[in-house]
Amino acid sequence: MSAKIISGTEIAKQIREELKKEIKELKKRHGVTPGLATILVGDDPASKVYVGQKEKSCNNLGIYSEKINLPGDISEKELLSLIEKLNKNSRIHGILVQLPLPKQINESRVIYAIDPAKDVDGFHPVNVGKMVVREKCFLPCTPHGILELLARSGVQTEGAEVVVVGRSNIVGKPVLNLMLQKRPTGNATVTLCHTRTKDLVFHTKRADILIVATGHPKTVTGDMVKEGVVVIDVGVNRIGKTPEGKAILVGDVDFESVKEKAAAITPVPGGVGPMTIVMLMKNTVEAARNSIVE
Ligand code: NDP
Repeated sequence: MSAKIISGTEIAKQIREELKKEIKELKKRHGVTPGLATILVGDDPASKVYVGQKEKSCNNLGIYSEKINLPGDISEKELLSLIEKLNKNSRIHGILVQLPLPKQINESRVIYAIDPAKDVDGFHPVNVGKMVVREKCFLPCTPHGILELLARSGVQTEGAEVVVVGRSNIVGKPVLNLMLQKRPTGNATVTLCHTRTKDLVFHTKRADILIVATGHPKTVTGDMVKEGVVVIDVGVNRIGKTPEGKAILVGDVDFESVKEKAAAITPVPGGVGPMTIVMLMKNTVEAARNSIVE
């Protein structure tokens, strides 16, 4: 069997088309242009690329964007005071602080400082808590993107054995939560694995849907999965550069061996990555809509 490729690039394009219509409508009916502020602290090359992609996406969709680049030695106090200003700025509906932050800055304090109504990353504990109890909130972009990828590819999650490898706050834990919720995009039986899992292969081999977010290439190989599994590879690992100087990216799954057994698989690049960005745009549009007082 050679797997169907689940293209995040294509699905993100569909969602962008839907968003363009919504943005036009917001401008026409309410005079509101969604606005996103992105804050980059320091000059980490990968973070620069991510922020650049987010800004480009805003420009393509007609979302107002403010890109704020801060020196790597900025103090926590200065960053918090900037966030305070953005919280009050009516042109800005969403605030994104690119993580990781330099050591002198406490990430939790920064996330707490963002107004939950502008927390389009969905990392603020208020949004995390609301997600868990299923109240209206901003869902974190990567997990939400994974749900959309599955739903729009016709993959049924109801009753499925979903195995998630990786328990970070931004991917594994929210994916676990969303997948077990009683709604059509969830309703799965979910197992969450990590580095202390005794027998990882036992779990990965049982998976109908396998979601991998470990940050290590080839965490999952062909001999670790069953025939017909659907695989979502969240990983982005830079393993070198092409002669032209472009980064060579691979996921956390050994694509070549796993695709021979899987029914469907996401590629890296072109899988989860574009979905994360488009879900950020979706949250920003939602934040703008929420700001309208009828
Ligand atoms: P973290 O490093 O925060 O978490 C990794 C998790 O994987 C940890 O829970 C760790 O376990 C677990 N883990 C690591 N190695 C193994 C292993 N061999 N077996 C079982 N579990 C393992 O990573 P993130 O969740 O932030 O990111 C994961 C990957 O996803 C990265 O490649 C990142 O670049 C990518 N990513 C991609 C995004 C996108 O938009 N495409 C968005 C976000 C992340 P333990 O807790 O025990 O240490």
